[in-house]
Amino acid sequence: MAIRLPLVVANWKLNGDRQLLTEMVQSIKELDAEKVETVLCPPYVYLNENTDGVKKGAQSVAIQESGAFTGEISGRMLRDVGCQYVIVGHSERRAMFGESNDTVAKKVLATLAAGLIPILCVGETDEQREAGETIAVITEQVKSVLDVLPNYSDSIVIAYEPVWAIGTGKTATSEQAEEVHLAIRKILAGYSQELADLTRILYGGSVKPDNSEELFSKENIDGGLIGGASLDVEAFTNICKNA
Ligand code: PGA
Repeated sequence: MAIRLPLVVANWKLNGDRQLLTEMVQSIKELDAEKVETVLCPPYVYLNENTDGVKKGAQSVAIQESGAFTGEISGRMLRDVGCQYVIVGHSERRAMFGESNDTVAKKVLATLAAGLIPILCVGETDEQREAGETIAVITEQVKSVLDVLPNYSDSIVIAYEPVWAIGTGKTATSEQAEEVHLAIRKILAGYSQELADLTRILYGGSVKPDNSEELFSKENIDGGLIGGASLDVEAFTNICKNA
């Protein structure tokens, strides 16, 4: 089994400001980059700030490269200001901005075409879990992207975020999460064993300092995608230390 460097990503959503970014950067710079990779995803307007070597990612990206698409931001622009990652297909984008599996696949391709690493978010709703559809939903979300990737060795990160656990304070148990992470790794192995071994699969959904250690101890959980707790410098830094 290949060694996967733990990855912890801060998803600020529509929150934060310059002051918080400055404080967060100061704290993250103190972490041991050989033990954990850390990425900050503030709103677009803050991506041009100097983060002193701390990695940056965007929360979404346009499908198109350029042109008459008012309000959109392209992968090339993100790369131009020093981004390395893009969160794609977050459940809030799927639910509130109508992003289908097809749109998400196109955004993953646009991200890779710009030389950036997509963080593909997948996850089931409460109703889907109750109906026993979790693995089927996840499989469809993952496959709809992998089926269109021209090259499986392209670097991609997957984030499993059960919709019912996002911002609710309800975390999946580490066993529930590990079960889905293992299923995702098996899907990846269907494409290539190398892809399965190298791809980092993050857990997201109400991750806090006190539940992160247990979640990150699982074999197939390679880090986290953190929402609410990523707006608190101490909490986020402690989560990174647990990875
Ligand atoms: P949360 O959000 O940590 O606030 O649950 C996670 C996410 O939406 O990425």
